[in-house]
Amino acid sequence: MPEQGGGARIIDGATIAAGIRRRVARQTASLAAREAIVPGLTVILVGDNPASEIYVRTKLKHAAEAGIRSRDLRLPATITQAALLGHIAALNADPTVDGILVQMPLPSHIEADAVTAAIDPQRDVDGFHPLNAGYLVAGWPTLTPCTPLGCIILLRSALGELAGLNALVLGRSNIVGKPMALLLLRESCTVSVAHSRSRDLPELCRRADIVVAAIGRPEFVRGAWLKPGATVIDVGINRVERDGKRRIVGDVAFAEARHVAGAITPVPGGVGPMTIACLLDNTLQAACLRRGIALPDPNAPSPLGERVG
Ligand code: NDP
Repeated sequence: MPEQGGGARIIDGATIAAGIRRRVARQTASLAAREAIVPGLTVILVGDNPASEIYVRTKLKHAAEAGIRSRDLRLPATITQAALLGHIAALNADPTVDGILVQMPLPSHIEADAVTAAIDPQRDVDGFHPLNAGYLVAGWPTLTPCTPLGCIILLRSALGELAGLNALVLGRSNIVGKPMALLLLRESCTVSVAHSRSRDLPELCRRADIVVAAIGRPEFVRGAWLKPGATVIDVGINRVERDGKRRIVGDVAFAEARHVAGAITPVPGGVGPMTIACLLDNTLQAACLRRGIALPDPNAPSPLGERVG
């Protein structure tokens, strides 16, 4: 893991994610050789949101490199909810499709919850379906939401054992904050969840050994809020304009936080690549789980070597 001046160790999500993608590539190659199965991922993109376009393109590129048969289904922003649900029903019944992902946000006339609930839980590689969310609450094996899963992998890489640590999750969305809190609890952390109605966020942060920031507010968490030596995972992706240039910044004021934290993820290059790597892993798992076959050996020889990542 690279060190940089300014104190905190930089948690290199890009490198860790590349390792996961290589491992998934080895496993998909082994699955193809052993069972003649190629995992299939379909990403549905409704409308032409430029940020969503980039996310979908990146997901499909990495999926293809990892040996996953990936395709996008592009639908107009004017599509009705019923027609979108019809597409999802067709994918649910397609034996070549192991993973279905609907890129958010959706146009305002479509209920995101209805779309999430329409995806076959076994093909729900985002892990957002209420059944999979319930499994996560119960602590049963399930397809786990990619971003929180990626954060846990980063935390384990930085800290090893997480048991007993005080963890603060900033944000309580269904896709990041809530599943993040559940996964930290599974790691035996003592977990607090803060949100827009929480009081005295600086004080809550000061008590935390781990801070996971997922609020969507640029550089909101200040360095002075942090406990010295804390591990900071910055999930935020915020597009801002600085000195006439467009930049992406996280939810944490990185330039300040790096002088106080013990380890911190950068934005970009921290959580973002992990989300995609975990999506590929979930697609491989979905392909095996649905057919009731064991996951291939993660140490199988790589067909791509160092090219992946
Ligand atoms: P949501 O908008 O769904 O949720 C934001 C959460 O932050 C809410 O729970 C909200 O509280 C809370 N919040 C907002 N403002 C404050 C505040 N001032 N103080 C305390 N809490 C606040 O966002 P998401 O969870 O979907 O995403 C969060 C961030 O993570 C975004 O920047 C998003 O782009 C990024 N993201 C990054 C991913 C990656 O791969 N790196 C993947 C997914 C998201 P309340 O519930 O009270 O409204």
